[in-house]
Amino acid sequence: MVRRIAILTSGGDAPGMNAALRVCIRAGLHYGKEMYVIYDGYRGLVEGNIHQVNKEFTQDIINRGGTIIRSARLPEFKNPEVVQKAADILKDFEIDALIGIGGDGTYKGLESLSKHGVKVCGIPGTIDNDVGSTDETIGFATALNTICECVDKLKDTSGSHQRCSLIEVMGRDCGDLAMHAALAEGAEDVICVEHPLKEEKLFSKLRKMKAQNKSHAIIIVSENLLNINELAEKISKETGFEARTEVLGRLQRGGEPCAHDRILSSRLSAEAVRLVIEEEGSHVVGMKNNTVVSYDITEAVKMKHEHTHGLRALIDMLQ
Ligand code: ATP
Repeated sequence: MVRRIAILTSGGDAPGMNAALRVCIRAGLHYGKEMYVIYDGYRGLVEGNIHQVNKEFTQDIINRGGTIIRSARLPEFKNPEVVQKAADILKDFEIDALIGIGGDGTYKGLESLSKHGVKVCGIPGTIDNDVGSTDETIGFATALNTICECVDKLKDTSGSHQRCSLIEVMGRDCGDLAMHAALAEGAEDVICVEHPLKEEKLFSKLRKMKAQNKSHAIIIVSENLLNINELAEKISKETGFEARTEVLGRLQRGGEPCAHDRILSSRLSAEAVRLVIEEEGSHVVGMKNNTVVSYDITEAVKMKHEHTHGLRALIDMLQ
């Protein structure tokens, strides 16, 4: 029987992690379980930074950005000896189940722990929306809203100077943030893995816009793909538009979670707690077609994220 449940947050922080933590703790207490938090992700787990919490711990955190139990990256967690040490520590603390909130890297860590006899459940928390076993991850909607706020502001200054703004957004290898932002902002172009740069097409469009005396152009670029400063230089030389770059960076991670992320966190977390208490084996939770679903963790880590159906075609149609 599961008596003690611990929760950690891992990988990049995402708005809504605290809302998820809140519901995990409250749902666990509701089922009569003893609830623990682990500070600093897998690093804190290996160091035994584990503390029992009560309902008061969850007060006023539903709207707080970041993660109050902090996150960390521990590359050594790929090493089976480190995973074994973590499993032993959980045993020492008599923790019967571990819930991890994070992205696909966090899920791999959880899966390793499950192979060392720990009962685990993963909750998808990452702004990148790159987890295969869910349509949406906690933090994505808030990060998208933040990007849109920034782009709206950039449009004002861009338009005042007749500039082309290249705006780099996060997403790791997933273009969801870039494509959704491009759609929401009516951007002139988006460059991401799913929608690669077509240089000549872009230049000719910008030349045409310049000839029509358009006030500004917005191009959303996903991180890790190309050097946006070099592209901006080329645009300035080839099209007549003065191009400027903005890297939004970690700004995208911050801020209060939007209502959508708070609700998503709550629905997924309640199911995660139920699963570790009532079901055998280790799982992850996710949202498919607006329904909460769960998968065996080993099956889940093999699933590839598919970007929103039809989004690329829609972006092309509107350009
Ligand atoms: P985000 O993509 O939002 O940053 P994430 O969970 O994918 O979230 P990662 O840095 O990839 O972030 O992973 C978080 C942690 O998970 C790593 O620091 C490491 O401790 C653990 N981890 C990652 N990959 C593995 C793996 N293959 N095996 C075991 N543990 C892993």
